[in-house]
Amino acid sequence: MEAKVNKTEEQWREELDPDRYRVLRKKGTEPPFTGAYTHSKETGMYRCGACGTDLFSSDTKFDSGTGWPSFTEPALAENVRLEADNSLFMKRTEVLCAACDSHLGHVFDDGPGPNGQRFCINSLALDLDPAE
Ligand code: FE
Repeated sequence: MEAKVNKTEEQWREELDPDRYRVLRKKGTEPPFTGAYTHSKETGMYRCGACGTDLFSSDTKFDSGTGWPSFTEPALAENVRLEADNSLFMKRTEVLCAACDSHLGHVFDDGPGPNGQRFCINSLALDLDPAE
């Protein structure tokens, strides 16, 4: 796993633009169909928008129709952390970056792949590093 990233909320607020800060550090959700990567078919590695850790490969990206970038699995299981999220009167599983604890999105069990997972991730939480 990547080395743990420990920054104060003050540092994150200075580093991230306000929209990204709200999603990554305040567990916000971007409005559906607004994100830069929702429909992207570019190949490469999606990295954490806060700390740069490898999170999702474009190979696992699929069109879920939900309005958010969706993946069948993380690039490395150990690079994400899952946590129960019972906010907003729903039982969901939150996906966080394991290195910096930033919020990425949620994972659901209605995905199309062999493991049946759908990682529903905010574009604002990601930076695509395009393949050469
Ligand atoms: Fe991170």
